[in-house]
Amino acid sequence: MIPVEEIKLTANFKIDLVDVDETTISEIYRLFEEYRRIVNELIEYAHSHRVTSFISLHRAKYRELRQRYPTLPSHYIDTACRHTASIYKSFIKMKKMGMCDKEKPIFKGQTIWLDNHLFKLDTENWRASIAVHGGKWAALRLLHGKYHDKFKDMKLGEAQLVLKDDGSLYLNVVFRQAVVLPEISADAKVIAVDVNENAIVYGNDDFIERFETDEGIIRTRYFLKRRRIQSRIRGRGLRARLLGKYRGRERHRVREIYRRAAKEIIGKAREIGATIIVMEDLEVYKEDLGSRELNGRIHRWGYRRFQRILEYQARLCGLHVKYIDPRNTSRICPVCGGELEESSNRRRFMKCQKCGLEEDRDAIAVRNLIRRYYEECVDAKTP
Ligand SMILES: [Zn+2]
Repeated sequence: MIPVEEIKLTANFKIDLVDVDETTISEIYRLFEEYRRIVNELIEYAHSHRVTSFISLHRAKYRELRQRYPTLPSHYIDTACRHTASIYKSFIKMKKMGMCDKEKPIFKGQTIWLDNHLFKLDTENWRASIAVHGGKWAALRLLHGKYHDKFKDMKLGEAQLVLKDDGSLYLNVVFRQAVVLPEISADAKVIAVDVNENAIVYGNDDFIERFETDEGIIRTRYFLKRRRIQSRIRGRGLRARLLGKYRGRERHRVREIYRRAAKEIIGKAREIGATIIVMEDLEVYKEDLGSRELNGRIHRWGYRRFQRILEYQARLCGLHVKYIDPRNTSRICPVCGGELEESSNRRRFMKCQKCGLEEDRDAIAVRNLIRRYYEECVDAKTP
C-alpha cells in the first residue's frame, strides 16, 4: 500500500473593505456581535454543567439558540458549539497546568468559525461570500499575492473570519492536499534536525551541518526595542500600535529565516537521497512539566513553528517526517550509551565518561535522534 498523507495549510486573506457598502459592513458586524454572544452563552453553559464535548453542547443548546436567533444561518450555531468546546477544552487544560487563574474563559468575539455552508470561495477571481442574516450572502474581494496561487489546486476546508483591533477583516482558509509518500525501507536515509537558540543543526552519522539563525540575538534586540517603547511612549494607542508593529516585524523576520533553513535542509535531503526527516517530539515535554530539559524550550514558540514549516515543506517534497521522544538526548553518548559530561577543554562540547567521545552538544543531539529513530522505528519492526 502506498502511504498517502494529507497536509493542511492555512491561507490568510485580508478582505478589501474599500468598495464594500455600509449595509454589508453592518451585516458583518452584526454577525460578530451575535456570534460573540452565543459563544459566551455556550461557555457559561459548558462551565456550569461541566460539559466539554461538542455533541453534548449541541444537544443541549442548539434548538433553543435556533429559536432565539431565527434569521442567523443555523450553521453558525453549529460552529459556535464546536468553537466553544475547543475554547473550553483548552481552558481546562491550561487550568490543570496552572497557567491560568481566571474562573472561566471569556470570548472576545474577534473570530468566527465558518464551515463550508457559511462561506464560498472563488479562487479564480479571489472573491469570497459569507452567509449573513436572512439567507443572504455578503460578497467580498480578497487581497491576494502571488503566493496564494498554490492554493488553487488544493482542497478547500474550513475557514475563520477574523476582525482585528484596527477594524480590518481577514478570511483565514484551511486548504488540504493529499501527498503520496514513498514507502520506508529499512535502509532509508535519515536526516535529524535539532533546534537551539541560535542555530538549526541537522545531519546524520555521515555529516553535520549548521544553519545559523541568530534567533536569540534577533529576539533580544526586539525585546529591548519593545522595552524602550514601553518606557518612553506615553500615549496608549501609539504605544500599542508601535508594539504591534515590532512584534509583527520580529515574527516576519524569524519566519523568513525558518523558511530558508527548511529549504536548505530539504535541498540537502534530496542531494544525499534521504527520505526521512526526524525531529524532536515536543509534546513529550508537555506531559513532563517537571523536567529540567523542558525549561526554556517549550516556551520558545519558535521551535514548534519551525517544525511546522519544515514538516509542510518536506511532505510537499515527498519526504516522511517522524517525531521522536527527545528526552535525555543531550545527556547520553550516541556511541556507547554512557553518561556525558561537559567538556573541560572546549565550550559547548560534551565528553563521554565511558568511551571518551568528545563532540559538540548539537551534533550529539542530532546523532542521538538518529540512533533513537532506528531503535524506535526500524529495529522494532525487524524480527
Ligand atoms: Zn561513549
